[in-house]
Amino acid sequence: MRYVYMMNKEGIDMPVILRLISSCVGISKEAGKIIRDIMYKGELGVIQKGTGGENDPQTEADRQAQKLIISVLTRDFPKLKIVGEEDDIKLEPNLTGNWISEEILSLKPTPELETIKEEELTVWVDPLDGTTEFTWGAVDHVTVLIGVAYKDRPIGGVIHQPFYKAIKGDPNLSAGRTLWAIRGLGYGGFEAKSPPENELIIAGTKSHKSVTTQKALESTGATTLISHSGAGAKAMLVLEGKAHCYLHASPGLKRWDTCAPEAILTEIGGKVTDILGDPYNYAASVHPMCSRGAILAHTPTIHASILSKLPDDVKDIFRNK
Ligand code: AMP
Ligand code: MG
Ligand code: MG
Repeated sequence: MRYVYMMNKEGIDMPVILRLISSCVGISKEAGKIIRDIMYKGELGVIQKGTGGENDPQTEADRQAQKLIISVLTRDFPKLKIVGEEDDIKLEPNLTGNWISEEILSLKPTPELETIKEEELTVWVDPLDGTTEFTWGAVDHVTVLIGVAYKDRPIGGVIHQPFYKAIKGDPNLSAGRTLWAIRGLGYGGFEAKSPPENELIIAGTKSHKSVTTQKALESTGATTLISHSGAGAKAMLVLEGKAHCYLHASPGLKRWDTCAPEAILTEIGGKVTDILGDPYNYAASVHPMCSRGAILAHTPTIHASILSKLPDDVKDIFRNK
């Protein structure tokens, strides 16, 4: 059962990266189904994760989605390193389902991708990004994020949006959409669009604002500042040309928030770094916190322009983090 999708239709062995992203696409959709079911039943099971009184909720949807994603990945890719957002989630040892994307399995891998070994890959899982908004019913902010790093850099990623059809007013509420990319092979599930010329639209956090985040956003000279929740949701604004850049000048984002967005954005020609212009390391051994904030830009030119405008006193805050 475990190796059913090691071969494509022609019976040729598939490189692990294709099998893995195929699986990530499939299980993100199934996780999205779990998330929708819990929302529509209204049994959210909210608990607070933090001990310091801050609002950091976890719901039954976060728990069940992570349980599914990591149980499947552990079963099918036993040498993989996996980091999930939620702590103490017991895995399901007797899982029998298989969730894959035939589209990904039909791609022709590059020679570089063929050499990758399972033990060189790390998966960063945010089973439900936008939990606070989910508890309010603001489902347009919700995504499932699965990012894959080869050694220390993103090589593939999946952003699944469980409530995509519901947001669009489609009567078929039972469908989301899934955006994916693999380095050097392309992307799918969305149309990469350029942001409007002669404007500068910057997306920033809605729920974790601070004096520094606002100062950074205003320093860009943006013609429009969008306050929006969710790392995945803001990344999609940049991917689809609704924003030039997503800027977060504060700690708080974690690697499971940024790995999948970085993989997809890079594949469409964008650039992602911390506030000082340096890339993040996605090896499993690093602390998950993106303590130097993040710049997710639609192009390297937009990235360079934003980086050059950030005031030194904002950058200085992050130099020793
Ligand atoms: P936001 O843009 O505020 O919706 O945040 C995007 C992601 O980063 C979410 O998963 C948040 O939980 C996380 N995040 C961002 N800033 C913070 C912060 N200051 N404290 C805790 N989590 C944060
Ligand atoms: Mg998140
Ligand atoms: Mg989450």
